[in-house]
Amino acid sequence: MSKPVLVINSGSSSLKYQVVDAESGEALAVGLIERIGGAGPGALTHTVGGEKHPAEVQVPDHAAAMAAMSDAFAQHGPDLAEVGLVAVGHRVVQGGARFGHSVHIDEEALATIEQLSDLAPLHNPANAAGIRVARAQFPDLPHVAVFDTAFHLTMPEVAHTYAIDREVAEEHRIRRYGFHGTSHAYVSQRAAEFLGQPLEDTNVIVLHLGNGASACAVRGGISVDTSMGLTPLEGLVMGTRSGDIDPAVVFHLARTAGMDIDAVDTLLNKRSGVLGLSGRQDMRDLVEAAAAGEPEAQLALEVYCYRVRKYIGAYLAVLGRVDAIVFTAGIGENSAEVRALTLEGLAGLGIELDGEANLVRSGEARDIATSASRVRVLVIPTNEELEIARQAIDVVGTRSSTYN
Ligand code: ADP
Repeated sequence: MSKPVLVINSGSSSLKYQVVDAESGEALAVGLIERIGGAGPGALTHTVGGEKHPAEVQVPDHAAAMAAMSDAFAQHGPDLAEVGLVAVGHRVVQGGARFGHSVHIDEEALATIEQLSDLAPLHNPANAAGIRVARAQFPDLPHVAVFDTAFHLTMPEVAHTYAIDREVAEEHRIRRYGFHGTSHAYVSQRAAEFLGQPLEDTNVIVLHLGNGASACAVRGGISVDTSMGLTPLEGLVMGTRSGDIDPAVVFHLARTAGMDIDAVDTLLNKRSGVLGLSGRQDMRDLVEAAAAGEPEAQLALEVYCYRVRKYIGAYLAVLGRVDAIVFTAGIGENSAEVRALTLEGLAGLGIELDGEANLVRSGEARDIATSASRVRVLVIPTNEELEIARQAIDVVGTRSSTYN
């Protein structure tokens, strides 16, 4: 039986949507609306049956974006009334310590999501705005919030605690939350399936390398550590984020360069990472420039991969036994160069990449380790929309069995 879910990812200036069948995984329509709230018109791309339908749209706010989405469905299909939507699943970035799993959205849940905005000022207000307008547009469907942080709420205290004054930390809810949870959850399940092992007995290190990037140590399907922290700034080097850095850099810049907090925030979140090191944010450009011998690009690529390698070492120690290292997201799935450079010199730890298998381009899950490698190396395409749809179905199913 098909179970179509409308999945919505509402950002500050963009809205991504997808109708996906939670049973078959088939995406019936995929859309992106950009430049919401901008000075000029926005851009909508609605893709159905492999055909793209671009349009210029007036989207001064999220309500207008939601209306533009409905127009696109009405014009290009599928007909939402006929599809038989079962639920609307919303991506929400920060669930704090409050949400350890996906929830049905009522007024109280929505208010809590809004209250968590102080921990995720760039994300939660936009997520909440999307939820509000979607609930108005689809009042008869159950709406479910799926949190980026929820998968990591299982992290033990030892992994999520920062060594700072306890009272300050408690008062301001400062701890490690972690992000990309839907991706880490999906990919670690798929890894166990691929290996033909029960999830409970499978230990993996998932490397989600996209524009944002994070590593996750997953023991038996449970996140026990992850590289992002209070915010997505901690951990790996990313497109524009520094990742791990001595916090004293902030004091130093304030005292010696006279930079205020917002300027340092912008520096570390938007002007650092491989962009800050090389002037290039896109990994394809960076790899090309490095291959052409540009020293800044070569160093940026090496710093990027070296940081990932350090986290692999850390999580081998955290997990003790590791079945597989799993690469996912735009860079992890596509960049043979990054995978090879990251895993260089790890044979002594039982991790051996098969050079030829690594070069094969494919959209399928695959094993790229040598047959002798003790730890498998997998490439598994992530699918956050499908995971959100599945979790939405789980919540709706639980509710009907609870309330009917
Ligand atoms: P997001 O975090 O926005 O979802 P993605 O997971 O789509 O990001 O990843 C985007 C990144 O993937 C970009 O840095 C892009 O350069 C990189 N990428 C996509 N295709 C390739 C490729 N063939 N080789 C190297 N990097 C790639």
